[in-house]
Amino acid sequence: MMDKINHMRVILLVLFLFHSTCLSFTFQHNNNESSNQTSSLKNQILELANTPNMLKWMKSIRREIHEYPELAYEEFKTSSVIRRELDKLGVVYQWPVAKTGVVAKIGSGFPPFVALRADMDALPIQELVDWDHKSKVDGKMHACAHDAHSAMLLGGAKILQEMKDKLKATVVLIFQPAEERGVGAKDMVAENVLDDVEAIFGLHLMPEYPLGVVATRPGEFLAGCGSFNAKINCGKVGLEGISQRYLDPVLAASASVISLQNIVSREMDPLESQVVSVSVINAGSDHNVIPDSVTFGGTYRTFNPKSFIALRKRIGEVIKGQVEVHRCSAEVEFFGREQPTVPPITNDERIYKIARQASSMIVGEENIKLAPTLTGSEDFAYYMEKVPGAFILLGIKNEETGSIHPGHSPHFFIDEDVLPIGAAIHAAFALSYNSHSTTS
Ligand SMILES: [Zn+2]
Ligand SMILES: [Zn+2]
Repeated sequence: MMDKINHMRVILLVLFLFHSTCLSFTFQHNNNESSNQTSSLKNQILELANTPNMLKWMKSIRREIHEYPELAYEEFKTSSVIRRELDKLGVVYQWPVAKTGVVAKIGSGFPPFVALRADMDALPIQELVDWDHKSKVDGKMHACAHDAHSAMLLGGAKILQEMKDKLKATVVLIFQPAEERGVGAKDMVAENVLDDVEAIFGLHLMPEYPLGVVATRPGEFLAGCGSFNAKINCGKVGLEGISQRYLDPVLAASASVISLQNIVSREMDPLESQVVSVSVINAGSDHNVIPDSVTFGGTYRTFNPKSFIALRKRIGEVIKGQVEVHRCSAEVEFFGREQPTVPPITNDERIYKIARQASSMIVGEENIKLAPTLTGSEDFAYYMEKVPGAFILLGIKNEETGSIHPGHSPHFFIDEDVLPIGAAIHAAFALSYNSHSTTS
């Protein structure tokens, strides 16, 4: 039953895309030649993306990865599927990068270098969707679309490989591990995958938007998210009845928690969105005893990279200052690998325009939406700390196919008709970037 529906949807999608093609090419160019070039580029990309074989191939890759989900830094099978397909396409790559990552290159080998990124890891979630390609691994599931992201980037690679002669730039395809842990991108950057790269593009599927709709925004987009842990030490355990002889870490922690709330309300710009929240406190176990230490921790979020750094600095200062008042000492930790700090995502104005134009070329101007700022985080932000980039959301919502559940839900289900759209957008970005950097 699923296959019949899919067949229908393939036809509808092809019609939809060509419908968009005819009606919605609204970008203005300085001259007819440029307009004709862009139009022919668009037609070639769409033609390659929309062959029945392309959809079949991308679905089979996505389903193979979906059936064997692997958590952060365990993506060995996933990366072997990616490498197998890159081999078949004749695309050269480097492996392993950051343990399981793959970095492939297509193009002349000369500047400009432009990067496209996909993530590969799954989540520790038991899949509750009953379908033919359900996860075969108990307790693990691709519930955040990273299986589709990998398949779409391979799709983009296939299109770019076939259009190599049009590509003056070199495209760097980054398949990274461990996005869900918030550390994969950071590790890839540490392995110098962005050396020589001058721009980067990434996308995430999003069931909040209808199938084929692209949502993005210039400037601040996704919040940075950090965690902190504090340990307050006051020396020794004591009885409450003779509390004058002991220092009290519970009181010191309480003062710290209250003072932390003042950072956002008194020190930060009220026109900016920020969060500082303490969500964990652990101290003592006996009602009659002053403990020797207290641990507590929480999270902080903001959209502005400068505010993000300022918040982190002030959290440390406030805790240490308050604890000192109570004659105790504090250790504050921000960078534990179990509580990674992910910076905000800020779309670069120029790269955003190229990404928006490339997306519009594929889905039509009427399907481009201005996204609100979102408090979710993505480790793509680490690439953007190094090079200017753009990040977009690509809608998959379709009531008929059950593609309606949010990411990280055990019911998460992807309308696979999105696969060629994502592949085409990747290719369109790389090819548009090429034309932008050579004509500007
Ligand atoms: Zn996720
Ligand atoms: Zn994700």
